[in-house]
Amino acid sequence: MRRALRSGLRAAALILAACAALGTGLTCVCHWCEKTNFTCETEGACWASVMLTNGKQEVVKTCLSILELNAEVFCHDSRSVTRRQCCYTDFCNNITIHLPLDENSSRKPALRPVEWTVIITIPVCVLSVVVLLTLYTYQGHHCRFKKKKRPNIEEPLSECSLVNPGKSLKDLIFDMTTSGSGSGLPLLVQRTIARTIVLQEIVGKGRFGEVWRGKWCGEDVAVKIFSSRDERSWFREAEMYQTIMLRHENILGFIAADNKDNGTWTQLWLVSEYYEQGSLFDYLNSNTVTVEGIIKLTFSIASGLAHLHMEIVGTQGKPAIAHRDVKSKNILVKRNETCAIADLGLAVKHDSVLNTIDIPQNPRVGTKRYMAPEILDDAMNLNIFESFKRADIYALGLVYWEISQRCSVGGIVEEYQLPYHDVVPSDPSIEDMRRVVCEQKLRPNIPNQWQNCEALRVMGRIMRECWYANGAARLTALRIKKTISQLCMQKHSKA
Ligand code: ADP
Ligand code: MG
Repeated sequence: MRRALRSGLRAAALILAACAALGTGLTCVCHWCEKTNFTCETEGACWASVMLTNGKQEVVKTCLSILELNAEVFCHDSRSVTRRQCCYTDFCNNITIHLPLDENSSRKPALRPVEWTVIITIPVCVLSVVVLLTLYTYQGHHCRFKKKKRPNIEEPLSECSLVNPGKSLKDLIFDMTTSGSGSGLPLLVQRTIARTIVLQEIVGKGRFGEVWRGKWCGEDVAVKIFSSRDERSWFREAEMYQTIMLRHENILGFIAADNKDNGTWTQLWLVSEYYEQGSLFDYLNSNTVTVEGIIKLTFSIASGLAHLHMEIVGTQGKPAIAHRDVKSKNILVKRNETCAIADLGLAVKHDSVLNTIDIPQNPRVGTKRYMAPEILDDAMNLNIFESFKRADIYALGLVYWEISQRCSVGGIVEEYQLPYHDVVPSDPSIEDMRRVVCEQKLRPNIPNQWQNCEALRVMGRIMRECWYANGAARLTALRIKKTISQLCMQKHSKA
């Protein structure tokens, strides 16, 4: 009955929204639209919400797109910790909105999460037992009770059940991206998720501030926090991850971006899937690799890079993207020992129709140690997008060398080493690198004993073909992926 009523209300809302779309659209009050005089235009609905964040009521008024309106979670919700409503006339969200408990909250202390757990779980358990016993008695079936996961009292349960009714983040992203534009979660869902994450510990540091492990509704997530002076990098990386059709098992799974103004400064968050094994650099430092391991790691990186580099033509297509900072610290290792390419902060997109690149070019970005010879001696042709992909391939070859070096051949394993560790200082300058890579034409050593192992022999050949001084002669990511997959098939047919 309630479901029918809800679907009815939703249908009505969508009809109203569709009518509005036929007309001129709505103008609403918008809290974060300084540039448009705190108003926004939409073909969906005006939206007002109040939610309890860190014990404070946070009011947000803005526009909802038709897509967001469709995502059930936004309208008709009213409970003690959050209240949201949608309306369909100009400036109709210019209202005063309170939480139901507002008047009492100053006198009575708010219930602690543990009290909420008791209040909610006891009646639910009693009811469940009664229902199960009734079923058991009448139908004579045996019941199996599944062990229930204990809720984590640190987490804001109400918001979890609101955005995540029994679903994992992966399911939520899958549902919303396949039904929507295919590029990511609606902005309000991203904001709601980001604001209910509890940070746990720092897991990494890079160019832009810190990366934390956080908890969202019992799930681990990674939170990259940018300082406000790096706002452009934050925006750029978030925009990159939300490129249509970018999602791929070997590219870091983006979840949400949020910019939260706490009155004194703006916190810029990028939320993504969390990989407990950390970066490939960390992994290789503490693990050796088997031949199967090499194949899995290198194949997954080639798959991620091939997807990034590939242009998919069509309305739901994807532009070709070059990473520009391929290195072992920007590749993450998943639990199943495959990789995901991360840190798209320097990536560039190609517009194949206009044959242009989406941002003004400074070719010497990236990490000096991994820079291709043509970047080091300033000879890269910036007008050809292929040049950027070729520079990625050179760096990929270096990453493959880092991996292969950690494979045991004849019982001997080398210590983990960075490429060119033996010929440049620990923080090399461009000039240091240019002298070694362009003038002396040195490359990392490919040991003779690799010839005794088929996988390492093939890896050595791939590396050489990634390191040609002439970028046009290098392999493509797709070619590398195919060569490694053949290696994998040979291995299985022999087994
Ligand atoms: P920066 O742009 O500052 O270089 P990165 O995105 O490269 O930041 O992240 C820096 C480090 O943080 C990585 O090398 C890795 O050790 C860790 N890290 C980043 N993202 C994740 C993640 N999703 N899961 C686990 N560790 C991560
Ligand atoms: Mg990085």
